[in-house]
Amino acid sequence: MIRVVDLKKIYHTGSVAVQALRSVSVHVQQGQFVAVMGPSGSGKSTFMNLLGLLDRATSGTYQLDGQEVSGLSDNQLAKVRNLRIGFVFQTFNLLPRLTALKNVELPMLYAGIRPAERRRRAITALERVGLGDRIHHQPNELSGGQNQRVAIARALVNQPSVILADEPTGALDTRSGEEIMAIFQQLHREGATIVLVTHEPDIARHAQRNLHFRDGLLVRDEMIADPVDARQVLTSLAEEVSVG
Ligand code: ADP
Ligand code: MG
Repeated sequence: MIRVVDLKKIYHTGSVAVQALRSVSVHVQQGQFVAVMGPSGSGKSTFMNLLGLLDRATSGTYQLDGQEVSGLSDNQLAKVRNLRIGFVFQTFNLLPRLTALKNVELPMLYAGIRPAERRRRAITALERVGLGDRIHHQPNELSGGQNQRVAIARALVNQPSVILADEPTGALDTRSGEEIMAIFQQLHREGATIVLVTHEPDIARHAQRNLHFRDGLLVRDEMIADPVDARQVLTSLAEEVSVG
């Protein structure tokens, strides 16, 4: 699904060059749920932005779904990004004046899908994340966790090859974070390929595989034998509340 070889990224700011990725090679199989870990500044977001075609690598190759994308023009890249990648950000990045429904319709607008079909698919995506009764709310009328669920619905709606999420629980309390992880785990059970960044080990343990970054290098590739089930965490959190 994703195959990168010897990926490097150097940022140039003025006369200073920062080697954010110093040679990363990795293969993520179709249907895999991967968490990217590592301290602040280790290159996690740089890696995700390259996978998400939001930025270009300095060198290296990247195959997405069997297609080599590093040589594509900006226009072609934008097309691949819109149709094949669903990106979820820490701060949701929703348009504040649009309803949940309109936010979720946006990627389909760019994909040229007709209005009735856009609406139908957006409603289905919002129902999948448990927001079927909030489709006409704007971001300021929703909680952080609900906004992140709108953002996940938006990421899903073009049926992308891969869902990428950079610290999707970073701005949320524990309970909302677990709700988000429960959704990612459900999508994974339904066959989605997911790469998610977190610096919280408890969150990373919900994935099947953890990639540990340090100083721009992938230093450890760990399979998680028995991933933590977010639904069980939510159940025990609910019990704590009712007991306490
Ligand atoms: P992480 O997400 O793991 O915290 P980043 O990928 O954001 O790490 O950053 C890796 C390194 O690259 C850091 O040293 C950071 O300061 C630098 N960096 C990230 N983005 C830019 C940029 N747009 N311009 C210059 N340097 C950057
Ligand atoms: Mg980051």
